[in-house]
Amino acid sequence: MVGKAIARFALLLIFFTPVACRAGDLAAAEAAKRAQLTAALPTDAAKRVFGGIAEPSAGPWRSIGSYAKGCIAGAVQLPADGPSWQVMRPARNRAWGSPVLIAAIERLAESLPKVNGWAGLLIGDIGQPRGGPMVTGHASHQIGLDADIWLMPMPERRLSVEERDNLPAESLVTADGNSVDRTLWNSSYPKLYEAVARIPELARMFVNPAIKRELCTEAGGDRDWLAKVRPWWGHDDHFHMRLTCPPGQTECENQDPVPPGDGCGKELDWWFTEEARHPKPSPPSPPLLMSQLPRECAAVAAAPPAK
Ligand SMILES: [Zn+2]
Repeated sequence: MVGKAIARFALLLIFFTPVACRAGDLAAAEAAKRAQLTAALPTDAAKRVFGGIAEPSAGPWRSIGSYAKGCIAGAVQLPADGPSWQVMRPARNRAWGSPVLIAAIERLAESLPKVNGWAGLLIGDIGQPRGGPMVTGHASHQIGLDADIWLMPMPERRLSVEERDNLPAESLVTADGNSVDRTLWNSSYPKLYEAVARIPELARMFVNPAIKRELCTEAGGDRDWLAKVRPWWGHDDHFHMRLTCPPGQTECENQDPVPPGDGCGKELDWWFTEEARHPKPSPPSPPLLMSQLPRECAAVAAAPPAK
């Protein structure tokens, strides 16, 4: 246990120590992959259109459509640095979202030192400047109400841009997927998950099934908050928070509310079956075309950029 903690510290040192040039990098590999995938897409593929836009549209904020089929006008950017957060993977330009989501992330980050003793959060992908589908990763994150947050505490020092683009995210789950990694898991994690689950505007959060199972085991009698903690594939090195459509956002489509109950019983057991572990591969679905998004999204894509 101590050995692994030391190894982890050493790993952090390696990545957090400015090294001449860690070229080679995730950022470069991702950019190359993105370019290759983009070139293979039809010109009216929504991810090609939205993935090629570097700035938000002018005008008021509008979240249009659903989490996995929509776009956002008037998005705002989470600043790369705040007192208690640092935005990771800046090369991706995906720190854009609705003002309510950005504010919720900032509040969560600022609450952390008190909530679980962390200095702050490392923020993963939020959304593109005008939302929409992405060329790499994520089916959702399209209307400015979804965000991924890393499971590594923010270090006290500021990471360089290169580190933010390349530092690997560390998994909190054992290789067999059955359990949290006890050498890393500690009481700060359930406190973090519970704080997120209790955000009033939260629709649901997605977490690794082994993490949900651990939270189920550790929770006491007050466990209603577990309802919004939804098991999903992946999410071993980050969690995903999703807010409901804010009042007044009439073009925004909510998904069904979570079922009642803490979700700790049979429903959770399914995630550890062969069927869940190795789902039958389905043929890749063709990319969403602009004509399949809400009509207003074409106008959002074509709108002038915000100054
Ligand atoms: Zn996500």
